[in-house]
Amino acid sequence: MVKTIINCNIFDYDTYKENQYIRFNDIILEVGNMDDFEKKDNEEIIDFKGKLVMPGFVNGHTHIYSTFARGMSVKFNPKSFSDILKQLWWRMDSKIDLETTYYSGLVSGIEFIKNGITTFIDHHASGMDIRGTLNELKKGTCDEIGLRGIFCFETSDRFDVDSCIEENIEFLKKQSEKYAGMFGLHASLSLSNETLKKVSEFLNEAPIHIHVAESLEDEKDSINKYGKRVVERLEEFDLLTKNSILSHCVHIDEKEADIVSRHDVYVALNPTSNMNNSVGLPNYKLLKVKGIKTIIGNDGLGFNLTREYLNLYFTQKYRYEDPTFFSFNDLKNNIDNVYNLVGDMLNIKIGRIKEGYKADIISYDYIPFTSLNENNIFGHVFFGIWDKLDVMDTIVNGEFLMKDREVKFEVEKIYSEAKKIADKMWDRL
Ligand SMILES: [Zn+2]
Repeated sequence: MVKTIINCNIFDYDTYKENQYIRFNDIILEVGNMDDFEKKDNEEIIDFKGKLVMPGFVNGHTHIYSTFARGMSVKFNPKSFSDILKQLWWRMDSKIDLETTYYSGLVSGIEFIKNGITTFIDHHASGMDIRGTLNELKKGTCDEIGLRGIFCFETSDRFDVDSCIEENIEFLKKQSEKYAGMFGLHASLSLSNETLKKVSEFLNEAPIHIHVAESLEDEKDSINKYGKRVVERLEEFDLLTKNSILSHCVHIDEKEADIVSRHDVYVALNPTSNMNNSVGLPNYKLLKVKGIKTIIGNDGLGFNLTREYLNLYFTQKYRYEDPTFFSFNDLKNNIDNVYNLVGDMLNIKIGRIKEGYKADIISYDYIPFTSLNENNIFGHVFFGIWDKLDVMDTIVNGEFLMKDREVKFEVEKIYSEAKKIADKMWDRL
């Protein structure tokens, strides 16, 4: 059924327009001025009463499997990044099965909706069950909750490598406007040459999704074991395929940045996670100078992506001791890049409130206390709306998944079931 939102203001990173209507089914059919609006037969009218409408967010790198780490207690006294992996994440993901995966998907899906995230790119790990997990994750997040997702399984020498490869290949065969696969790899430091060779044999031009030089240890490990840096290793095995995501790249050097820039790949920036793990901050200056396409993720740390936008903006100024470095335009480029990547992978158009684009829309109730116009709207959004994120409506593929802050699912029931599943996983630790 065709729906029409009336009386809204629209900012889609390109243009700001007041007093608009948006007519849509799964796709935006028409956008126009309220003065020209005429109601059609059999369409549902939703009055937004002056709400600000924007495109939904895309989380460019996340780990839904980490959802049930909230409040979890493990013996934790890390001295390095690999200690964090060993003491927390690897210990936890070794206890995750299909049921845990499915419920972490449901819960994450609901939290994404509340935070206006309409598409996510996930990097999954689960040691108890490998085969079939990506499908469980898709079932929870896409089939039942209704979001768009890109999935992969973290191939790593600590798992059965053949199962990891099979799981990625199997899911890569699936493709729709709602989901697609990538080939997941953990990081250089957990992948032998033998494994990388095997992956390259099965890759068949699929994009990879891997952590690169998140901590200095990844580079040191690569140099010590293989006599070359991480990105050089990936290139040697022909793994830098189109649309691949290299997450972090905090410690790549200029030579590696040159290699990355020669391939049609993306670097995902996750500044809050980098600070939390004390591994450094993204070297945006290097990536920008080399013309490397960057996107923003949150590395599974919570669900509010705008915190990453704010932290990236502030930390880049801090990092280079330059209050003029990293502009709204830089931020917009990052946001546009992820829309392009996901659009290409799902074969859809997203990221604008324009005819022909998918109706992936969010809204805010925003009453400005200073003048707002097309020239300063980004400042209002960044310093006002994103500072205290309060999404009112989340629409994916034309469906209201949240309307006036009311999520369309039985949240309490799902969360109380999830708690039981999380308890079981904690008991296994
Ligand atoms: Zn990550």
